[in-house]
Amino acid sequence: MVSVEGMSETPSAGLSRQEAAITVLGGPTAVIDLGGLRIVSDPTFDDAGPHGYLTKTAAPAVDEDGVGLADLVLVSHDTHPDNLDERGRAFAKAAPLVLTGPVTAGRLGSPAVGLAPWTGHSVPRADGGGDLTVLAVPAVHGPEDGERDADGNVNCEVTGFVLSGQGLPTVYVSGDNASIRTVAEISRRVPDIDAAVLHVGAARVPAKFDGRPLSLDSRAAAAAAAVLGAETVVPAHYDAWAHFSEGLSEIELAFHEAGLSAVLRAAPHGTWVRLNR
Ligand SMILES: [Zn+2]
Repeated sequence: MVSVEGMSETPSAGLSRQEAAITVLGGPTAVIDLGGLRIVSDPTFDDAGPHGYLTKTAAPAVDEDGVGLADLVLVSHDTHPDNLDERGRAFAKAAPLVLTGPVTAGRLGSPAVGLAPWTGHSVPRADGGGDLTVLAVPAVHGPEDGERDADGNVNCEVTGFVLSGQGLPTVYVSGDNASIRTVAEISRRVPDIDAAVLHVGAARVPAKFDGRPLSLDSRAAAAAAAVLGAETVVPAHYDAWAHFSEGLSEIELAFHEAGLSAVLRAAPHGTWVRLNR
């Protein structure tokens, strides 16, 4: 069961602590309160404006002060400014712990710890419930047959994460991933995922892979939701940048056509989607 908090909370006043909930702030950035910890994935806090070959079109719904200090930051990749912009990078560096992939951790330096796919990291919970386990999972940032870099990755190293712990909902954060095959493998190996933050939006850059999607398009996101069997799917990374080819209306239509509207929880940015175990 999931409930969405409505207008009772003003995002600019700051994000109140939740027992188990997710909110997307715009772009890929999600805040996940779980096990007494505030976890922020792919922090981006810059104002709208140009970022090299990409253009940001909106600032986040809540700024760094409204989010407060994170206990844990998850960085799917650092090579693309839409996933880690300048203020997002500063926010991550100020956190006690950043979890990411090994190549990315080497670039970021302390406090980043690099996890290869299918390796876990334990973080002590703040609610007395033992540890939160963060499992790094693969992500493919483009078409399956896309050119591989020196490390064997399509586009670049990207890491997804599965968060779990005793009595907590299990939460999957996809990172930039375009591969349903990868989602299927994650679902096979972690069969009880309760909630998923999926990076959708069908990001396209003409110079990369003939303009084919670098992240899930809406129909692929609905298929991924079906494969996962998750009770709750929170879409992220479909707005606030100019290179997304699909937005919320396409996502809602695709989930409707798949008969999965009930699992799609697209709350306004900065508004909590509560998770129950
Ligand atoms: Zn990217």
